[in-house]
Amino acid sequence: MCEEIKVTLTDCPKQKPDEDHLVFGHTFTDHMFEMDWDKENGWHDARIVPFAPITLSPACNCFHYGQETFEGMKAYRCEDGSIRLFRPEENFKRMNNSNDRLSMPQLDVDFCLKALKKLIEIDADWVPHKKDTSLYIRPFMIGTEPSLGAHTSNQYKFLIILSPVGAYYATGLSPVKIYVEHDYVRAVRGGTGFAKCGGNYAASMKAQDIAEAEGFSQVLWLDGVERKYVEEVGAMNVFFVIGGEVVTPALQGSILPGITRKSVIELLRSWGVKVTERRVAAEELVEAYKEGRFTEMFGSGTAAVISPVGLLRYGDTDMVLSDGKIGELSQKLYDALTGIQWGRAEDPFGWSVKVL
Ligand SMILES: *Cc1c(COP(=O)(O)O)cnc(C)c1O
Repeated sequence: MCEEIKVTLTDCPKQKPDEDHLVFGHTFTDHMFEMDWDKENGWHDARIVPFAPITLSPACNCFHYGQETFEGMKAYRCEDGSIRLFRPEENFKRMNNSNDRLSMPQLDVDFCLKALKKLIEIDADWVPHKKDTSLYIRPFMIGTEPSLGAHTSNQYKFLIILSPVGAYYATGLSPVKIYVEHDYVRAVRGGTGFAKCGGNYAASMKAQDIAEAEGFSQVLWLDGVERKYVEEVGAMNVFFVIGGEVVTPALQGSILPGITRKSVIELLRSWGVKVTERRVAAEELVEAYKEGRFTEMFGSGTAAVISPVGLLRYGDTDMVLSDGKIGELSQKLYDALTGIQWGRAEDPFGWSVKVL
């Protein structure tokens, strides 16, 4: 594992974007982190360089066979002037699980965290200041062996790029519309559902496009085998409030183990709220709704933190949740998580990690 990180600073820093009009993932900071892997040398040439296009052979494995994994996390500018990350080692550990599934090499979690902190220090002025803005962090890894042989790549690149982002909901937390997808599936047990990889997204774009064209923000995926149990939505895990109890689909290999999901479960339990991880049939939600017991639903993920669901459609049943407004628990969780992330609240779990 390489220990030294070579730094080359840009000689033409870019104009920072207007913090009132940040579009998710559209602008990037002045620098990026990059390192390479091959069989003889392992990870080497760790470097921070000016953000720029990378040159790759058109024969690279990632273009043809999709060996690609990624992560998504954020850096927050806090009220005390510090810049902080939220449970960042969890992201690099998860990336190693994804890498293992895609037969890609492991990363040194501590070294990645060190590289990320150094990169953020260099681009610290890019962490936006306005309330609810943050610096989105995208680590990713690609197979770069220039060979069309359909086998595991013998060369890889790992990069981290940074993008200042605005509040997910421009007008504040607001409920979304979702339907249960019955034609397409995202993942099956034994496949790559638990890995954060581009291939899972490629498989889900078509259903997402149809949902958007019909005025829905996302689809709720069913399990790929029985098409009976709900799994997760787009890039978020899901929670249901049924009879006052919080229920979320159990991680069984086809669901992405979200760090926000894990934090929500830990927070709820610390508040004495009962949380159960189990299989949840779509039919069960309809029945519970008809009995007035299914009262609230929300998604959890780094980008939106908590996303209240105002309407869930299954077949021809429309379930209106929390009167189509923000549910009580959704709001409480959103406030608690963002409080810890932006340093506005106590951090009893030690989730917040200082960069600067
Ligand atoms: C990243 C992701 C999530 C959310 O994970 P967090 O760690 O909470 O951001 C959920 N589902 C999918 C498919 C994802 O890619």
